[in-house]
Amino acid sequence: MGGTAVVVGGGIGGLAAALGLRRIGWEVRVVERAAVPADAGAGISLHANGLRALDAVGVGTAARAAARPQYTGGTRTPAGRWLSRMDGTLLERELGAPIVGIPRAVLHGLLRAALPAECLLVGATVHTLDLSAPDRVGVPVGDDVLEADLVVAADGVHSRLRGLLFPDHPGPVYAGSTVLRAITEDPFEVPTDFELTWGAGAEFGHILFTDGRAEWHAVLNAPPGVRHSDPIGVLRDRFRDWHDQIPALLAATRPEAVLHHDIHELVTPLPAFTAGRVALLGDAAHAMTPHLGQGACQALEDAATLAAALAAEPSVDAALVRYDTERRPRAQSVARAARRAGRVGQQLSHPLAVALRNTGLRLAPSRVTTRAILRHADWTPPSLLEQG
Ligand code: FAD
Repeated sequence: MGGTAVVVGGGIGGLAAALGLRRIGWEVRVVERAAVPADAGAGISLHANGLRALDAVGVGTAARAAARPQYTGGTRTPAGRWLSRMDGTLLERELGAPIVGIPRAVLHGLLRAALPAECLLVGATVHTLDLSAPDRVGVPVGDDVLEADLVVAADGVHSRLRGLLFPDHPGPVYAGSTVLRAITEDPFEVPTDFELTWGAGAEFGHILFTDGRAEWHAVLNAPPGVRHSDPIGVLRDRFRDWHDQIPALLAATRPEAVLHHDIHELVTPLPAFTAGRVALLGDAAHAMTPHLGQGACQALEDAATLAAALAAEPSVDAALVRYDTERRPRAQSVARAARRAGRVGQQLSHPLAVALRNTGLRLAPSRVTTRAILRHADWTPPSLLEQG
């Protein structure tokens, strides 16, 4: 079954969806409002499930080559004491891949490069859809209307299309944490591939890239909307007494490189990931907090699953039922787990609760940490070849 699709949103999820659809023989246009992704100056971790989904849509090899495996690292206290260690080799043995770190701009670049240029319409915003026909959707773009058998709503956490399709849904809410992050100017000498440090209501972490630069992030409990004229100065103050690596990472960063975003999530789960001939995907469907590093991985799972369902089912409508059935329970359960991980991790602020959590972590065998990662990362994409 071939067909035509318009993907609204050219983020990680939308681009991967377009690649998956092309792989099964569909004609695809991606409509993206921005010329450059908003968080191109940051990095991302991909777990085995995300890498396997990238394999399914055809760019896994390129992504693995551009990403740095995270073999060493773990979680520390602000004084630098280890609370838990991550064993990347064990993850690799269990899943075929450890977690990897990659600059977002690089991942974006390779997803875009795998699509023919004529598939991408950048600098174009979709404001509405024409849903008057049962089996076609019209997507007004400028003076034109793109007609398609299927629209993929991949327009992110503040999705306009979700608001159109589910007007009674309350939409995303502020998760209570704000994040500042940047990539160091030059390669940074650090003994671990990945680290988190947890204090009261604050987390500082880094991931390393293949070129030796590090991305760091600081996640803080804070009211929404607070912005600083000198963010790096504020962070230097906030993390002044934390172990030496943290002030050193801040010192290795150009002040203007710092990105600052409030974290929003969909606390009220969507009743469906589809509406008529529209499939919602990625943050548009299940925006989650970043505490498990799974948001983009889930978007990639969506992309591979949608293409596989369309390849396997005799009709678009049947494929959309299958997509919703296969994706909604899993993505919504990972979103709940991410919220819980934030509450017992970065967001925990009462000193007694922090002390209890830290003792528990120190005493837990390392396989407990590994099992927690495996629970979400051990996912295998359905085949994109036609079945049946
Ligand atoms: P987006 O990346 O938001 O893309 C949506 C796109 O749609 C944008 O390009 C936007 O410009 C476009 N758009 C929006 N509206 C319109 C419109 N009306 N018309 C046309 N285009 C439109 N996930 C991980 O897997 N690992 C991590 O390590 C990780 N770390 C994170 C750290 C932080 C601080 C945060 C905030 C998130 C993190 N995530 C991580 C989550 C991950 O970033 C998101 O889940 C993922 O980027 C979602 O991709 P998406 O394509 O669904 O949405």
